[in-house]
Amino acid sequence: MSQKPCSTQILHASEAALRQVDFKSGQTYQGEGFFSLQHFPRILSEIWSGSVEEVTKESPEQAGIDWQVVTWLDDTAAGHTDYRLRVKIRTALHLECQRCLEGFLQKIDISAQFVLLESHQEVEDFPIDNFDEDALLQSDAFDLMELIEDEVLLALPLVPKHPQGECALLKSSTGALVEVDDKSKIAPIESEKGHKNPFLGLKKLKLDS
Ligand SMILES: [Zn+2]
Repeated sequence: MSQKPCSTQILHASEAALRQVDFKSGQTYQGEGFFSLQHFPRILSEIWSGSVEEVTKESPEQAGIDWQVVTWLDDTAAGHTDYRLRVKIRTALHLECQRCLEGFLQKIDISAQFVLLESHQEVEDFPIDNFDEDALLQSDAFDLMELIEDEVLLALPLVPKHPQGECALLKSSTGALVEVDDKSKIAPIESEKGHKNPFLGLKKLKLDS
C-alpha cells in the first residue's frame, strides 16, 4: 500500500479556477461558493423569459447557484485508489409553467456523487443502474462549472408546471380548453368512469383479437 500525499486544496471560488481543476495531481479538493446565473448560459436559456432582473430585485439569493464540492480518495480491495467527488447544489429557478405560461419558482436541491475514471472506455462501461454514483472522466483540467450546469439541467422538470393547486389556469373555469392535453387532469376522469369507460372496452377488444 503506497501512502499517497493527500493534502486538501481549497478550491478558489471563481469561474476561472473551477473551469480547470487538476484532478490528476493526486490532491483532493474542497470548496464552496455562489455564482449568479450569468455564469450558466444554458440554465439561463431554460428559465422564464424576463425573470432574471425581476428575481434579482425580489430576492437576490435566488438568482444564482449555491455549490459545494469535495473530493476524496478511496483505497479499494483490489489495491488501487478510487478518486471520488461529491457536488451539492442548491438553487431556486423561475421556470415557465407550461399550463398558464406564467413564471413559478422551482426549488432545486442536488447531491450527486461521482467516481473519476481514467479512460473513456471505463466511463462507458460504468453500470448505468448504479444509483449511488455516476462515472466521469478523470482530467487534469476538469470543468466543474460545466458539471454544476449539467446537474442543474438534469434536475429540471421535463414539463415545468405550477405545483398542484397553484396554477391560476386550473383555478379559473375558462381554462378548460388548455386542460385537454393534461394527462394528470384526464386520469381521474377515467378512473371515475371505471368499467363503464368505453375506451377500456376497446382496449380489451384489441388485446383479444
Ligand atoms: Zn401555471
